[in-house]
Amino acid sequence: MGLFNKKKNYIRINPNRDSLPTKKPTVPDDMWAKCPNCKRTLYKKEIGAEKVCPHCGYSFRISAWERLALTIDEKSFTDWDNQLEQKNPIDFPDYLAKIDTNKEKTGLDEAVLTGRATINDQAFAIGVMDANFIMGSMGTVVGEKITRLFEKATADKLPVVLFTASGGARMQEGIFSLMQMAKISAAVKRHSNAGLLYITVLTDPTTGGVTASFAMEGDIILAEPQTLVGFAGRRVIEQTIRQQLPDDFQKAEFLLQHGFIDQIVPRMALRDRLTKLLAFHQQKGWCE
Ligand SMILES: [Zn+2]
Repeated sequence: MGLFNKKKNYIRINPNRDSLPTKKPTVPDDMWAKCPNCKRTLYKKEIGAEKVCPHCGYSFRISAWERLALTIDEKSFTDWDNQLEQKNPIDFPDYLAKIDTNKEKTGLDEAVLTGRATINDQAFAIGVMDANFIMGSMGTVVGEKITRLFEKATADKLPVVLFTASGGARMQEGIFSLMQMAKISAAVKRHSNAGLLYITVLTDPTTGGVTASFAMEGDIILAEPQTLVGFAGRRVIEQTIRQQLPDDFQKAEFLLQHGFIDQIVPRMALRDRLTKLLAFHQQKGWCE
């Protein structure tokens, strides 16, 4: 019996256990990020202002404004065509309300910023798509803005640098978004016929009708490391051809190997690479 008594004294249950705080210590949400490519959890300070994974080199998705800040000369950007009227051509439910929400969220008028800027004092026309605005999808306003970008660049004899990031054509505008592919391609061709340079920079993700048109029409096609570039999604292709696709299928590295793109440039080196490419192709004085 002595033994049992001893045990009774030994197990002591905290009489306040039900009133103890159960909340776990919290970590601020903005301290950590997960790399979508290598799946590692990263301390946010590690990825820096350029937002690049230090382990696999994946370039995190950034906004069009962040892209401008990393790429062009400070205060050199003139915004073009930011007041185009948005319509709802196929009466898609709640479409215009969705546009308004995205405008507020991103500080953009649409999924692409277009304008004129300088990079190391060289003037050029720039377009930057933003995946945060309805997945960077291409509707009539995006199509019109990019078309005008090329038309103005042709008139002003400027090279064009276009950063692509898009889920493809915008389904909420049906066939009207698909026709943007042809309209932009025609403007790209007129710009090319004028002997002007067009550089595309494919950023994660570049897919659908954007890949099938102006993203792949650059004279020089660059891409950030580990960028997803494709037309249809991986699952759709696998189900159609009934074959398993390689792991790196639709990655920029795979496309480089197969001759679809010219070079993969880490985000930190992009500004310098674009400066050199623009300077090299500057026509004024080139033959003198
Ligand atoms: Zn990573």
